[in-house]
Amino acid sequence: MTQDRVFNFSAGPSVLPEEVLLKASNEMLSYGNSGMSVMEMSHRSKDFLSIIESAESHMRSLMKIPDNYKVLFLQGGASLQFSMIPMNLFIKHKKADFIDTGAWSTKAIKEAKIYGEANVLATSKEQVYSYIPKLDSSSFSNDVDYFHITVNNTIYGTRYTPENIPNTGSIPLVADMSSNILSEAYDINKFSLIYAGAQKNIGPAGLTVVIIKDDLIGKAMDSTPTILDYKTHVDNDSLYNTPPCYSIYICKLVLEWILGQGGVKGIEQINKYKSNLLYSYLDESNLFKGTVVKEDRSLMNIPFITGNDELDALFIKEATSKGFVNLKGHRSVGGMRASIYNAMPVDGVQKLIALMKEFEVNHK
Ligand SMILES: *Cc1c(COP(=O)(O)O)cnc(C)c1O
Repeated sequence: MTQDRVFNFSAGPSVLPEEVLLKASNEMLSYGNSGMSVMEMSHRSKDFLSIIESAESHMRSLMKIPDNYKVLFLQGGASLQFSMIPMNLFIKHKKADFIDTGAWSTKAIKEAKIYGEANVLATSKEQVYSYIPKLDSSSFSNDVDYFHITVNNTIYGTRYTPENIPNTGSIPLVADMSSNILSEAYDINKFSLIYAGAQKNIGPAGLTVVIIKDDLIGKAMDSTPTILDYKTHVDNDSLYNTPPCYSIYICKLVLEWILGQGGVKGIEQINKYKSNLLYSYLDESNLFKGTVVKEDRSLMNIPFITGNDELDALFIKEATSKGFVNLKGHRSVGGMRASIYNAMPVDGVQKLIALMKEFEVNHK
């Protein structure tokens, strides 16, 4: 690791692979033979078109995205998708089923209600979202335009495993994958729309990736602004207006880095190894404990507590002073949260555990 860099456990924006940052810094003043930075380039230039095309083709090969899905590079964050999705998908019933697994689900529900009906089928709110509700598919509605889940719950540290994705039959399944896209292999065919803000596992903030099935495009409500209609972006290859060019360029570099790790399957093995190290320690520790039921544990965001607010604060302070930063948990859970996205090296997790062990010995 480069000398003055810390281990950054931020939930987002978050750590990027050091190789990517170095490559970007080497290409900062002149990209290829262009004599200019990607930030200074026309989004219609040959160089930039080749960057965005590579980003799309890497995304397709990494996630095994079939030809009948479009890949869009948009702006507005995952939060804009909370409104863009109902605007475009409330085609017939103006109603959707939701599973409420945390703060981001709640926001998605709130926005959908502006355009129609949001039916909350299940929630784990009463247990501070520490689990993913068990679903009975006979309770799913037939008269909805889509079914929405948040695949990885960044704040609470739960996730739907690839095996646990609800089977919604002919109802389009819409998934917020902001905090675990590209972290393990999910079968794209189970989904009709996947969206993710880039700043957790894909690149810098300012970019949102949307993967959408063909048959959902071109049916937006009449009142939908042109720029919020998916069809606009499909018809213009994500270049309807000036896209976040530099974020797309870093995204391309991150995707190339993932390809170099053995693709999503390769990175999944590393992520399982990393998260297992921390969960195993949490399970055996007499001081620190995880806050989530075992079967729904996230590979990316791992909240933990000591049960004593003062000790939590002391641990965070000590960790910060030693270069382990952004470990403070979300205020709704308290304690600590280690976000260990794709770019967090194994070394960072091993050293965090060593620090926790030392702290445990000193605070018995
Ligand atoms: C961070 C996050 C969001 C919000 O993303 P923005 O890009 O800030 O709008 C939404 N959903 C999930 C699961 C997140 O982790």
